[in-house]
Amino acid sequence: MPTTYTGRLAPSPTGLLHLGHARTFWIAHERAKEGTLWLRDEDLDPHRSRPDFATAMREDLHWLGITWQHEAKQSDRLDLYRHAMQQLLATGYAYPCHCSRRDLAQSVAAPHDDTDDEPLYNNRCRPTTPEPWALSPGPSLNYRFRIPATDPITFTDRHAGPQSFTPGKDFGDFIIWRKDNLPSYQLACTVDDADMRITEVVRGRDLLKSTARQILLQRALALPTPTYFHTDLMRDDQGTRLAKRHDALSIRSLRESGLTLEELRAQFNL
Ligand code: GLU
Repeated sequence: MPTTYTGRLAPSPTGLLHLGHARTFWIAHERAKEGTLWLRDEDLDPHRSRPDFATAMREDLHWLGITWQHEAKQSDRLDLYRHAMQQLLATGYAYPCHCSRRDLAQSVAAPHDDTDDEPLYNNRCRPTTPEPWALSPGPSLNYRFRIPATDPITFTDRHAGPQSFTPGKDFGDFIIWRKDNLPSYQLACTVDDADMRITEVVRGRDLLKSTARQILLQRALALPTPTYFHTDLMRDDQGTRLAKRHDALSIRSLRESGLTLEELRAQFNL
């Protein structure tokens, strides 16, 4: 039986949706026309996630004409992530990291670039050989994924074309469980995409390197790999990424300025 297309919109309720989101979500919606779409509220950042932003993102998506069939919120799914984490710990794929923010700032081996937030880790806490650990019961430590010795991770993105990332060079052992006792984006996203049986992930091109990390997590957890479609990032006239600008044009402010949906689509090529 052919699998039906299942896609997802995965906004974080940490601010108002801007034009970059609108374009990505519009494409995700178009591609899911013959299938189903999830709205996944990625609300795992306790300091930045706000319920009023979650409400606003739903309203703005509806205004854009984007609809979905299923809905879930990551803070309701912690058991699932914990289960996956225990599996990674038991199989030697995860280890606790005692490095403080300060240690990390001093040991950054590669400069931050525009497209990725997590610097290469210097492996200070990495055990010499893989060994099983247990998850500490309360908030305490970060845990990292032990990237296996492997060939470059390659995949053919349906929009961005062939991709290749080398573990240990393009990214290091990355955080999968945070000291506030919550999963990192990489782990939660991997678990959810598999659990929701997502067949294609549509998201911004800034996450290409995260895709390579998530493919490694899929392999370690014996989960399937969906196909990927990474959309182009929207930049302003100076070439600055829209999402990085503090005054990124929000859908809400454009709408409140009287712009109609048709004008918005025409003006910004959505
Ligand atoms: N929640 C992430 C964001 O807003 C998107 C994650 C994804 O699509 O995988 O950037």
